[in-house]
Amino acid sequence: MKKPPTNPKEIDPKARIAGFDEVVLCYTEKEALAEAARCLQCKNPTCIAGCPVGIDIKKFIAQISAKDYKNAYLTIKEKNNFPSICGRVCPAEYQCRKTCIFTKKDLPFASKDAINIHFLERFAGDYGMKHVEHQSTRAPERQINGIRVAVVGSGPAGLSCAGELARAGIKVVIFESLHKPGGVLRYGIPPFRLSPETLDFEIAYLGKLGVEIKTNTIIGRTKLLNELFKEGFHAVFLGLGAGTPSFMGIPGENFCNIYSANEFLTRVNFMGAYKFPEAHTPVNIGKDVITIGGGNTAMDAARVALRLQKINNIDTNVKVFYRRTENEMPARRLEIEHAKEEGVNFEFLVQPIKFEGDENGNVRSIECLRCRLGEPDSSGRRRPVTIEGSEFKSKCDIAIIATGLLANQVLTGVTPLLKTDKWGNVEVNPVTMETSIKNVYAGGDIVGGEGTVIEAMGMAKKAAAAIIERLERKLS
Ligand code: SF4
Repeated sequence: MKKPPTNPKEIDPKARIAGFDEVVLCYTEKEALAEAARCLQCKNPTCIAGCPVGIDIKKFIAQISAKDYKNAYLTIKEKNNFPSICGRVCPAEYQCRKTCIFTKKDLPFASKDAINIHFLERFAGDYGMKHVEHQSTRAPERQINGIRVAVVGSGPAGLSCAGELARAGIKVVIFESLHKPGGVLRYGIPPFRLSPETLDFEIAYLGKLGVEIKTNTIIGRTKLLNELFKEGFHAVFLGLGAGTPSFMGIPGENFCNIYSANEFLTRVNFMGAYKFPEAHTPVNIGKDVITIGGGNTAMDAARVALRLQKINNIDTNVKVFYRRTENEMPARRLEIEHAKEEGVNFEFLVQPIKFEGDENGNVRSIECLRCRLGEPDSSGRRRPVTIEGSEFKSKCDIAIIATGLLANQVLTGVTPLLKTDKWGNVEVNPVTMETSIKNVYAGGDIVGGEGTVIEAMGMAKKAAAAIIERLERKLS
């Protein structure tokens, strides 16, 4: 008989919303062994094709089963510099778990009994953090003397590219605009999904490989792209991310207390606004919070808002408005479940059309139309169609808009030779990730895509391989 999946323990929903501690705990050894034992060790492991960086999933699970945790960790590190991060935030149900043999065909996401590859990855990653101490199977055997590469941005793409280059013996300097490295991993993902300690550990690993990080440096403002070449860098990788919020363009969107999810999450995650006044950045919170959107950012914003209400002794009341149904939501299934357990309410098939405010300019309500699902659009998801005459109003004193992000324009705006598409994404050769400027490469959200951490890392690895190949050719 097939064994049921083993799930890690989670903090009780009532307790977890009182703070920002990690919700999902790491597998115990017993739990990891039980889950690894369910893997069939398929002759043709379909799970690997679902991993954007091609981790040998079958092998590292077999190593966990054999209690060879060190080598399980090192197997993951061969393809992924940051197992503890990916084990926590990867949308595995849309990737490796979806292609696991246990997932029934034609499902939009993994079956519940697909192997919990991500939790096993986290187990191996956390074991590595505690016991393997930054060893790497591909530690640089030689240094490529005199060669320097600049990496712009320290989010998942930048960190990953820097790690790959450093492991090949190349001197890397990362330029980060904020005062701490991590990019979206730090400002976008709340501590209850990815603890800052885990992120700090993984970044410190790069330091041990010789990567230098210069914070508070905005390439495109503090210095221009061509200045990096003048300073002697041989190549540049752009991992700038997508930091420009996109709004809905509806009346009343400028009322006070309407946040972009990016600003809201940055205030709380990065600037510690939940500790205000101990931390200097405040954030407003109210009685009727509405988050608009269906992705992970919307789930993060809603769950953060709920915690802020709890911390401020306000009865929790957070709603998510989404214009399709739960099935079409791009958010991770786990995050949707967690949001529901914590008390976030969902209104599906709802399209906001207007905000209304008071005489002080503060938002007071949101007006919406109900929708039905029409024909599939270019994303393959059924298009929401508004229903005439279905207007309704909802009280709203804080709105958080999480309907998408656009490419960061700070650098592209001052670098006319850097070709961008109609959305402002940097255009690249999809094989080498080289941009329209020779020796300038790009990857992650700045070039578009699904916006997942692991996808950004996959692009960064491609770029790093192309940079290494070109530099080696140059030197030979
Ligand atoms: S994780 Fe799934 S697909 Fe991969 S080897 Fe195990 S059972 Fe097979």
